[in-house]
This record gives sequence, structure tokens and C-alpha cells, in this order.
Amino acid sequence: MLDVKEPGFRENVDLMFRRAVAHLDLPPGLAEKIQICNSTYTVRFGVRLRGKIETFVGYRAVHSEHMEPVKGGIRYAPEVHQNEVEALAALMTYKCALVETPFGGAKGGLCIDPRKYEEHELEQITRRFAYELAKRDLIHPAQNVPAPDMGTGEREMAWIADQYARMNTTDINARACVTGKPLNAGGIKGRVEATGRGVQYALREFFRHPEDVKVTGLSGSLSGKRIIVQGLGNVGYHAAKFLREEDDAVITGIIERDGAIVNPAGLDPDAVRDWIIQTGGVNGFAGAEYIADGATILESECDILIPAALEGVININNADRIQAPLIIEAANGPITAGADEILREKDIVIIPDLYANAGGVTVSYFEWVKNLSHIRFGRMQRRNEEAHALLLVTELERLSADKQLGWELAPDFKRRYLQGADELQLVRSGLDDTMRTAYQSISKVWHERSDVKDLRTAAFIVAIERVAASYRAKGL
Ligand code: GLU
Repeated sequence: MLDVKEPGFRENVDLMFRRAVAHLDLPPGLAEKIQICNSTYTVRFGVRLRGKIETFVGYRAVHSEHMEPVKGGIRYAPEVHQNEVEALAALMTYKCALVETPFGGAKGGLCIDPRKYEEHELEQITRRFAYELAKRDLIHPAQNVPAPDMGTGEREMAWIADQYARMNTTDINARACVTGKPLNAGGIKGRVEATGRGVQYALREFFRHPEDVKVTGLSGSLSGKRIIVQGLGNVGYHAAKFLREEDDAVITGIIERDGAIVNPAGLDPDAVRDWIIQTGGVNGFAGAEYIADGATILESECDILIPAALEGVININNADRIQAPLIIEAANGPITAGADEILREKDIVIIPDLYANAGGVTVSYFEWVKNLSHIRFGRMQRRNEEAHALLLVTELERLSADKQLGWELAPDFKRRYLQGADELQLVRSGLDDTMRTAYQSISKVWHERSDVKDLRTAAFIVAIERVAASYRAKGL
């Protein structure tokens, strides 16, 4: 809970947007056009559950249609409200522009605590919500494509896809109406891990820029860096797991709903997750110290802080006590605009949400393309690569036969060389490439423009310029 009142989430995003706009020379009125949320649809529907009718409230906000379809997840949480959904939809617009996925921004939300319902009840509720949205084209492969967010996952996406397909039996592209589906319902490998994987790739790219790392006072690589993660949900869990297993980072603290656990020697996210599944929280996890007031651990000493849960967790009440020199926003909006200012004054480097958590929508884009192409993802690329590889292999075989190579070709050389990449590898390398390119575009603005002092402003500038360019080219 906040002690001092701060603006709401949407106002926070708008403040950050306007701070970036001040560095740009946009035609009068265009900034305002980009900033405002185009429309928000509110639906109230009843579902008969356990013998009585329950009413649910849901939203789908469309922030910008400069590109269609518009894209963004659907969140299930008890406190979801219009302001929050609109803030998240705005962030989707900027996020998509930054990583160059050809979508406008949208977001949905349903006021519900999913833990209070049985699976078959959730299915009933989700199908009804999907029906209400789809009949207004707020779920549609060409116009509006939802995805998972907090409180939803593959299961809900499969129900939504099936509901849409039942309502549109002749739509051959029906599967592309939603992303984040299970593999056997038209999903793509690597989508579940994508946002956490993107956080890992973002950090790796940051550490490939020594001059950027220097600003934090840190040095070297990710190896041995002490990390505190807030929220061990899908995003936090995958980020922590990959950073520990593949980059030798040390997860010194994990903050969850019921408190935090710390161990300077490192925590294993898999073991902690198993414990949470078994017991419902982190309390009692062996080999770690438990702290009931988990939020205080955000303020502990570490090298990298990863807020991966709710918005506004770092606000003007705790910002000046944050010690981490580097924060990467795996969640959407974890730092309020007021806190952002305090942290900047303390020279803390923030890798901003619109970049840091863009891995999810990037892989959603791959899934959408896979669904629309009706071909196994990577098959085309593989055919091209194979054609090139075959030319090379044939040439090497000829040289070898003519004894011009100077070495022997291994007997299984041809087979091994021609083996193509599988879908997961293609997804990961496409995501890596996207995260690298996007970071480079932000870092360039950060360094080349003397008036830009932080990565968030730089990221907003890159995103806003792209959205503005799209409006200039196509009109409003
Ligand atoms: N909900 C995710 C986000 O906030 C993913 C959105 C998507 O894949 O469309 O970025």
C-alpha cells in the first residue's frame, strides 16, 4: 500500500511518455493523438455457477490502431480496472513499436480471482468473456489478438481460440485469433518461456555494452552477479532459472506474496517453485532465511533487481532506499514515474519494461505468423538454408574427392551439416536477434543525444518516432 498518494498507473505511463515527447519535434497534436487510448470496451456478463448467477466485469482497451491487428494480453486479477488496462494497452503500443512487431497496442482484463474457481468454472467464464469480445471483433486474427498475461496462460488461450473458431467456422485463420496457445492447439515452442527468456537476452545484451555497464558501477559479465527477483510467476521464474543455469548469476533473494527468502549462496528457482506449488508460499523453504515483510528485500543490497510481478511496487515511498545499481523491469510498470525520478537522481540504471519484457509479444508474433502461414514454423527458412548448405556440401565433397581439401570429410558430415534447426532453436534465435537489435537502437539514442540521460526516455523516443512515422505515412 502506498503511504503517499501518487498518480495512477495510466497517468504514470503518460508522464513517462510526455517526458520523452519533450525531446522530440512532433507536429502539433500528434503527441496527444499517440498518447490517448482509442477506445475501451467494458462488458458485464452473468454466468450461472454453483446454482446462482455471478456477474463479471471485463475490459478490452485498444490504445493505438496505427497498425492492425492490435495486440496485448488478457489479465485475470481481482483488482483489474479501466485505468490499469489502458496503461497496459499503451505500453503494448510502445513495446511493439520498439521491437518492430507490426501490431498496435491493446490489453484486456477480467475482474476475477482465478484461484477461487474450479477449472470447469474458469472455462465457462473464459468462453463467455471470449464470446462477448469476439462478437464485437475485439478478438479477431486481423484486428485484435489477445495473449496470456497475469492470471492466464495456455489453458485460457486454448479456450479462447476454440470459442472463436466455433463462432467463425469458415475462418481459415481462426487459430491466429489469439497467441500463447498450447502446442497442440496451434501454439509455438518457446512461447511460455519467452518473456523470461527475453529478460535474460536483454541483460546479456546490456552486458555486451561495457560503456553502459560502467554507468552502473558494475563490471564484467553476468557471471557471479547477485540477483533479487520479485515474483516467481511465469516471467520471474524463467528469467531467474535461465540467468542462474546459463549465465552463472546467483539468485540471492526471491520475493513472493507471503514474504521473501534470501540466501547469499544462491537459491534454485526450480526448488523454490516446487515448494510454492506444494505449500502455497515461500515460507519454510529449507536452506534460506525467511523474511515475512517481503517488500523490504526490494531494498536489499544486490547487483541486479528484477521486479517481475505487479505495477507500482517501487514507488516514492521506497525508491530512495533501493540499493541495486541496475533494475530490469520484467513486469509492466513496476516503477512509478515519481520513483523513476528518484532512482535516476541516484544514478540507478533502469532497463525499462517496454523493452525488457518484450520477449512475450515477440514470440507471439512468431506464433501468429506461423498460424497465418499454415506451415510448420521454420520450414521455409529451413528449405532456404538447406539449399545453400547443399551447394556448400557438394562443393566440399568435390574438393575432397579431388584431394584439394587437405583434410578428410567426416563420414556423416553431409547428414550433420544438413540438419536444420528445430522450431525452438529458431524461436530463440529470432528472439535473441530482436532483443539485441532493439537494445542497440535504444543505447544509440542514450549515447548520441546529450539531452537523453536514461534508457527509458531513449526507449520511448525510439518507439514514439516509429509510431509517429507510421501516422505520417498512412494518415490518422
Ligand atoms: N501480456 C504480454 C505482455 O504484456 C504478452 C502480450 C502478447 O503476447 O500479445 O507483453
